[in-house]
Amino acid sequence: MSEDSLENVVIIGSGPAGWCAATYAARAQLNPLVFEGAITEENRMSGTLPLGQLALTSEVENYAGFPAGDLAAFLDSALPQDRRMMMAPHAGEGVTGPELMELMRQQAVNFGTRVITDDIQEVEFSESPFTLTRAAGGEIRARSVIVATGASANWLGLESEERFKNRGVSACAVCDGALPRFRDKELVVVGGGDSAVEEATYLTKFASRVHLIHRRDELRASKIMAKRAYDSEKIEIHYHSKLVEVLGDDTDGVTGVRLQSTTESGDETTLSAAGVFLAIGHTPNTAFLNGQLELTPKKYVVWQNHFRTSTNIEGVFAAGDVADDYYRQAISAAGTGCMAALDAERWLAEHE
Ligand code: NAP
Repeated sequence: MSEDSLENVVIIGSGPAGWCAATYAARAQLNPLVFEGAITEENRMSGTLPLGQLALTSEVENYAGFPAGDLAAFLDSALPQDRRMMMAPHAGEGVTGPELMELMRQQAVNFGTRVITDDIQEVEFSESPFTLTRAAGGEIRARSVIVATGASANWLGLESEERFKNRGVSACAVCDGALPRFRDKELVVVGGGDSAVEEATYLTKFASRVHLIHRRDELRASKIMAKRAYDSEKIEIHYHSKLVEVLGDDTDGVTGVRLQSTTESGDETTLSAAGVFLAIGHTPNTAFLNGQLELTPKKYVVWQNHFRTSTNIEGVFAAGDVADDYYRQAISAAGTGCMAALDAERWLAEHE
């Protein structure tokens, strides 16, 4: 690829939406180019390394087509040895998030997708062809663009939270809640919105008790959702409370939390818990767009037409969590990635 070449379709982002868009675009002979993100400490800290949010989870039990089973031999045969060697050994319980993402990436590559391990840090959508500026330097010109940069879960920013990520601390109950380590254990959910109540309710299927930690004296969640929390015998709401430390050790991971009252007293208490789930909102990765696409007040890309992935700029499409603050599932992201590739293909054909 020369700097002067004109790309048919550039896909920014490498979660399920990005790879699924790439597979479809490649099979449509569009010769797509994916910017999968740069491997930097900054991206690690913000949860935006290549392969997206799924790469930060453990087992994935709800992605259609991947029942539990020993996938080791399949992974060995499907992935190139150099990438396979870099992965953790297969645990034998079903596909993990990183494995699923490597498989999606490989599927896109098998059909000729080109991949660059770098971020797009600036876009210029005011003129077509569009210009994209790489973090590593240099510009790319593209006839169409699919933005699939996802969203990053908000974290509290505690050192102890970082230490126990993937060892009991999670920002996705639906992804991780059913893991054996949480079965019949006391769990903590932080947040007071619909997500927090939804996650707490979901976790009651597995946990012996769920402690919902909220910083104010009333839930933000809608009445109908809040009622679920009030009605559940397993959910205990701790108002006026904030989590100040995740407790644990290297052997067991999370063993409890230290809470502080948000009232004047500032009293501290501890709770035993095997898991901590953050549900304090997500932030879509749209800052690099620098206002060039229409965004919702919460900064998600706005799809302009019902059941289409088109944005307010013709030829620019959005897929996955970057345009979805509602479903936020790997499989729905992959589905909209497919839709974006088909939308781009049709748009390119119409504007040949
Ligand atoms: P949200 O409504 O923004 O709620 C975030 C919650 O986290 C709030 O209770 C907030 O506390 C708390 N929070 C934020 N930062 C915090 C911090 N640093 N420390 C402690 N607590 C903090 O986000 P959401 O619950 O993810 O919902 C997002 C959108 O999706 C909403 O529109 C929601 O209705 C929708 N949604 C709907 C459903 C459903 O209908 N089934 C399910 C999930 C989400 P404060 O209340 O004090 O601000």
